[in-house]
Amino acid sequence: MSQHEKIKSLREQALDDIAKARSLAEIDAIETRYLGRKGEVTQLLRTIGSLPPEERRTFGQEVNQLKEELASAIQARRDELAIVEVSTKLRQEALDVTLPGRFFQIGRPHVLVETLTRIKEIFIGLGYEIVESPEVESYKYNFAALNYPEEHPALDEQMSFYITDDRLLRTQTTAFQHRVMEKRRPPIRVCTMGKCFRVDAVDATHSHTFHQVDCFTVDHGITMADLKGTLHQFAVEMFGREVQVRFRPDFFPFVEPGAEVAVTCTICEGKGCGVCKGTGWMELAGAGMIHPRILETVGIDPEEYTGFAFGFGVDRIPMIKYSIDDLRLFMENDLRFLRQL
Ligand SMILES: [Zn+2]
Repeated sequence: MSQHEKIKSLREQALDDIAKARSLAEIDAIETRYLGRKGEVTQLLRTIGSLPPEERRTFGQEVNQLKEELASAIQARRDELAIVEVSTKLRQEALDVTLPGRFFQIGRPHVLVETLTRIKEIFIGLGYEIVESPEVESYKYNFAALNYPEEHPALDEQMSFYITDDRLLRTQTTAFQHRVMEKRRPPIRVCTMGKCFRVDAVDATHSHTFHQVDCFTVDHGITMADLKGTLHQFAVEMFGREVQVRFRPDFFPFVEPGAEVAVTCTICEGKGCGVCKGTGWMELAGAGMIHPRILETVGIDPEEYTGFAFGFGVDRIPMIKYSIDDLRLFMENDLRFLRQL
């Protein structure tokens, strides 16, 4: 085969390959195969040294011409394939805007978390500081420092989860009171909130785990009127302007005098219904003036300072607000229930 024929056959082969290329990857491979550093056209050009000098010039020209022709054929084919590939990709990724959308489940706070947040906001608004207090508490803070007499039924092991002889899961958030008073001097205005634990048979209105809020104030000239005003303001912000607040005498070892606080039933607005058992009132909190003996034990002079304290169950609030009659629903994590609130 003459040199000229060799070039001719290589040209035909290469143009055929280029025409048959179906993808950009294929055209790249063809380019390497013919025009690459070890490509066939390049190899052919290297044979120039073995030719008689008079043929070299023509041969060189022809090979270079072939090189240019193939390069431009490859580029043309590459441009075509690029367009095809883009349009294929677009077709594959096409978005059908008429398809119905996918439904995303959006998370939200649990109703008790929402209630705690709202309570926090209200008391911060009233000038209280929210403090953390431990769930595992010593006997001293949970009972002794709160003036509980030795024979009080709450001290019974049957009522509390003891971890050691001296440590138990707090039965009330009131346990934080002494901790705070030991470290601070009046004016004090603090709240704490969180889980409390008692040995209790679980039913619609009782649980071994429940949530409480406790607040207290110690300052010059604090009276029962301040306590009433504070709880009234809280009730209005929590339940609405129409709510009424009732105080009745009650006993707690750590207050004197003590009061049971109730609000008008939000379901029947005080007329009497099944939720409030016909009374028109829902019990909300235990409250009172801090017992002078408690102030004395932390070195606060009860002649100079007075204070009030109150505590209430958090779980009761959404029960009152949404007329839920079973406490257990809050802790069962049944989404069908939780999504309704
Ligand atoms: Zn009612």
